[in-house]
Amino acid sequence: MPPELIALSFSRLALTVFAFFAGMTVVSVAMGFAVERALAGSRKIFDLPLFEGQYRFELLGNAVFVVIATVTVTLALRAGVVRFGPSSTLRGALTFYAMLLGFQVYYWFLHRAMHHRAIVRVHRWHHRSQVTTPLTGQSMSAFEALGWMGGYVGLPWLFSLVTPLSFWGLVAYLAFNVFGNMVGHSNVEPTARVASSRGATLFANVFLFHSLHHARWNGHYSFQAALMDRIMGTEWDDWHSLYEKVASGHPLTSLKERGAP
Ligand SMILES: [Zn+2]
Ligand SMILES: [Zn+2]
Repeated sequence: MPPELIALSFSRLALTVFAFFAGMTVVSVAMGFAVERALAGSRKIFDLPLFEGQYRFELLGNAVFVVIATVTVTLALRAGVVRFGPSSTLRGALTFYAMLLGFQVYYWFLHRAMHHRAIVRVHRWHHRSQVTTPLTGQSMSAFEALGWMGGYVGLPWLFSLVTPLSFWGLVAYLAFNVFGNMVGHSNVEPTARVASSRGATLFANVFLFHSLHHARWNGHYSFQAALMDRIMGTEWDDWHSLYEKVASGHPLTSLKERGAP
């Protein structure tokens, strides 16, 4: 960790962590709404109304998430939970890609577990949004946010038992995670056709992929890429034809809409 951060008092460190998460949230939401506005006429995913008060409800969920992320990450940094090594480009890149892959695996299991009857109530807040907005990404209960902290803090802790991580590599991944999560919940499809193939979606999903999870409920548990759904057999076989429909300017008009396999 940079010496400037180690020297901070607890409250100043908390303020710095809060500025990071709140700042990334604001930037990502602004980008998400800009993308929605730019593509509303040509690539809208669901042409259906939001529920009454949806933005207000989701804003509250975002506030819960940012507070929990701030407290958890501040405490973890203060307690030295994650072992950091000297900064280098290689260590930074390895930390970023280890988190990129690790979070996908971690999130699939967390998400799948949250759809189990025993604990599904912690996940209902996020699913209140059947048609998503950029604010939906971090709209969740405090218990679900704590589950995410397993990925934000527990995962790097685990990796750092093997080898020290790069502080800036981890910061870069968390910024990418927040940005991708929020922009990725926009109700439009910016993904170019060339990036919508089965091969390409192993690395990054089309936006519609997770929109279908909100509309249908029991499949597509992945974060960011289809990789884990493909390995675990939880991928629907009709998303590509629905992608084609949306990409050619015809939004889906029912949450139950099915495409050709
Ligand atoms: Zn879910
Ligand atoms: Zn979601």
